[in-house]
Amino acid sequence: MSSKINLFDLTLDSLTSLITGWGFEPYRARQVWRWLYQHHASDFSVMANLPQNLRESLDAETTPGALKVVSSVQSFDGETRKLALELADGQIIETVLMRYEGVRRTACVSTQAGCAMGCVFCATGQMGFARHLSPGEIVEQAMHVSRLLAQEQQRLSNIVLMGMGEPFHNYDNTLEAIRRMMDEEGLNIGQRHLTVSTVGIAPAIRRFADEQLQVRLAISLHAATNEARSALLPINRRYPLNDLMDAVRYYIRTTNRRVTFEWALIAGKNDTPEEAHRLGQLLQGLLCHVNMIPLNPTQAYQGQPSDMARVSAFVNILEDYNIPATVRVRRGIDVNAGCGQLKAALIASQ
Ligand code: SAH
Ligand code: SF4
Repeated sequence: MSSKINLFDLTLDSLTSLITGWGFEPYRARQVWRWLYQHHASDFSVMANLPQNLRESLDAETTPGALKVVSSVQSFDGETRKLALELADGQIIETVLMRYEGVRRTACVSTQAGCAMGCVFCATGQMGFARHLSPGEIVEQAMHVSRLLAQEQQRLSNIVLMGMGEPFHNYDNTLEAIRRMMDEEGLNIGQRHLTVSTVGIAPAIRRFADEQLQVRLAISLHAATNEARSALLPINRRYPLNDLMDAVRYYIRTTNRRVTFEWALIAGKNDTPEEAHRLGQLLQGLLCHVNMIPLNPTQAYQGQPSDMARVSAFVNILEDYNIPATVRVRRGIDVNAGCGQLKAALIASQ
């Protein structure tokens, strides 16, 4: 494991202290920052406007990124590319680039290696938890996607934190990564083009509401009764629906922002008309939107996706409650073997 400092783990302030500590002018830090974030430099030798001795110090003490691409697979339609990235300690995480109709280009990034939440239908949950990602490791995933796009003269437009892991279980690092992604001299992604998805950690939703951000929030709901939800998402035992919905109402009151609820439709489980009515009653009157995602089958879970007739019946019932819902399963994603969340991420950024 390298003992060098990963530049993506530094804020501009800490990069400035590092560089001024070596005797260089503070403005040099900003130059390095632009090389990193705007020119996708992966080598100090290309940083042509820096003095040679600064490049040497950087090379000796730091590294411009710590993630290695170990695989890169493109879907048949060329719209989606999944990267497997190796962290400095050998852990592997996934990052996905998704394009839509030539307009939106979204990176789906991971916030943890594995996940501790144990949702039964999720490939990451089935793996268990390895560790939290640092802010740099989260941001650097987006940089990899941005670099791929830059090679085609395109720009990253959206980021969804919906890859592996639960962002609010790694709250501080996730928030620092989000702020870095928004940095105008860095990746410069507008707040409304960032989406964070949580399994429903109620206190973290309240805390997020108080951050005064305009980042979009998605909540993985998937069931409308405690019994059904706890069977799918074990965290529901700790933060049951009442508590979760209180936190969501607090979020909406505080931010005046619409929340998205995610619902993976599982045949015969949570796709019945009764369940649709329960969901309608639960969400009626809330400033919200529901994203329906037919389940993506995973190895360790028996459930299957609902058929389209069930899906449209479900959506129709929600309409009776004036709850907007979308289902968009337009693409055959053939690269998602390990990534149960890919479909959800595709929809969330549309
Ligand atoms: N941990 C966060 C974000 C990552 S999961 C969360 O749970 O919200 C992103 C989304 O993918 C969540 O809505 C999750 O419930 C959904 N998901 C996970 N596995 C899935 C599967 N097999 N099929 C459909 N959606 C899935
Ligand atoms: Fe973790 Fe989200 Fe998967 Fe649940 S759905 S196990 S919270 S990554």
